[in-house]
Amino acid sequence: MQGLMMDYQLTLPTLLERAEALYSYREIVTRRPDKSLHRYTVGEFVQRTRRLAVALVDLGVRPGQRVGTLAWNHYQHLEAYLGIPAIGAVLHTLNLRLHADDLAYIANHGGDRVILVDEVLLPLLEQIRDRLEAETIVVMSQVPEGESPPEIPSGMLDYEELLAAADPDRYTPADLDENAAAAMCYTSGTTGKPKGVVYSHRSTMLHAMAIGMSDLVGVRERTSYLPVVPMFHVNAWGTPFCCLMVGAKQVFPGPHLDAASLCDLFERERVTMTAGVPTIWMGILDHLDANPDKYDLSCMEMMLVGGAAAPPKMIADFEQRHGLHVVHAWGMTETSPLGTVSHVGPANDGASEQERLALRAKQGRMVPLVEIRARADDALVPWDGKSIGELEVRGPWVASAYYDSEQGTEAFTDDGWFRTGDVVSIDPQGYVCIVDRAKDLIKSGGEWISSIALENALMGHPAIAEAAVIPVHHAKWIERPLAVIVPVEGKSVTLDEVRSFLQPHFASWWLPDAIEITDAIPRTSTGKFKKAVLRETYKNYRLE
Ligand code: AMP
Repeated sequence: MQGLMMDYQLTLPTLLERAEALYSYREIVTRRPDKSLHRYTVGEFVQRTRRLAVALVDLGVRPGQRVGTLAWNHYQHLEAYLGIPAIGAVLHTLNLRLHADDLAYIANHGGDRVILVDEVLLPLLEQIRDRLEAETIVVMSQVPEGESPPEIPSGMLDYEELLAAADPDRYTPADLDENAAAAMCYTSGTTGKPKGVVYSHRSTMLHAMAIGMSDLVGVRERTSYLPVVPMFHVNAWGTPFCCLMVGAKQVFPGPHLDAASLCDLFERERVTMTAGVPTIWMGILDHLDANPDKYDLSCMEMMLVGGAAAPPKMIADFEQRHGLHVVHAWGMTETSPLGTVSHVGPANDGASEQERLALRAKQGRMVPLVEIRARADDALVPWDGKSIGELEVRGPWVASAYYDSEQGTEAFTDDGWFRTGDVVSIDPQGYVCIVDRAKDLIKSGGEWISSIALENALMGHPAIAEAAVIPVHHAKWIERPLAVIVPVEGKSVTLDEVRSFLQPHFASWWLPDAIEITDAIPRTSTGKFKKAVLRETYKNYRLE
């Protein structure tokens, strides 16, 4: 017997209609590049988003085509989040922190036909403009009312002019299949090129609903939400869609991510929830410690931390010194990203403060609709909190393949699970603890650095015979690259030489902060570098 429920398609344009009907009064606030605040209502947002949708159709964008964004967190980016999928096109957020070569590769590989770029990011776009296959570049600038708009470079279009010329009444939501692509994001791996993850309307809607669940993130109409996590990092962890679904106020920091600007915005806009990587929160902790009575953050209900492991001391310091509640979550580009969240459930009501902190410092339990398991040597490992294995996940917002890529097929098991590359233990209550990464990427301030890319380049240096790059602890960025180098016999090499040799090929923050000279790098039986041994050797290495 079949169920007799409607086959209602879960698609993003329905969020616009809902938000307009119920939450038109709600505010969306942005800190502009000049630090002034832009504010408008959800009602105005919906109208402008419809204008954007009409303008994109007029530019020739058709369903399934990709529109890239190279932008900070702000209201126009939010308009793109909805306006692009509303016509059946695919939102492709570009990571503005990447090296120009990677950025050009990703924009072209993703097939971006139009790119929306922040005026303040034009110098970055100029570096790759002649390599871009996109036909149209649209410049977004956030200029306070009454001030003259900026000069748009020749051959580019002005976002505000496009919107002004578009008639919102010509907007008709595309008739969409819920499994159609809505957005895409590239992830970097140890080997080969970055890989595209393609989110569907259905996966994005289900993920947004999950974020609203009270034992997960619990975004609701009363929430004032500030995503510090960039909108180019897994769709700002999916929260902009959830905020529109439930009517939360959204507060965007623009390019101002320093602790003082963020704390000011938290206080000013009575922010109740925020999210970002540990590096951001460590900066905020230092700032609050140095200015203990400066801000009234009594509205803040929770600070979500993910993307890298949250140090337990940081969680405890926020709680004890500032009464701020940090919630630790785990996810990946391939998992939309929400996979696990660490709340202390009633089963632990009798636990001591110490035990509660230990649980909160773990990555947490699987969220509803996501299943997890850990595997080692072809067998699933028991949930005993000790055995470790590679974490595998499946669920409606977990990738089933990479975009147009032969690479990465090994990340998917024959029985339909995604292999995360994270090595974990799972305790009897289901709390996941990330022990290590199966691969050796370095995560500096929440952003990936490929050790293999650096090694390959280093080994092109005439004085370097072998090089392995590993993460070492850094006080601010959590991890930074250390290059372990075997020089060519009779030659020597210095850190400055290494950095200037790499500099033309990498973003500056990719360059190793330190080198160590050694006689030989330990190898596995198949001739690969044994990085685990190196990590052990340099585990007490500390960089400031
Ligand atoms: P990305 O796809 O860039 O978001 O990176 C995903 C990876 O970040 C995961 O596979 C983990 O290795 C790491 N990661 C994410 N969240 C956490 C966390 N809470 N603790 C430790 N590592 C994390």
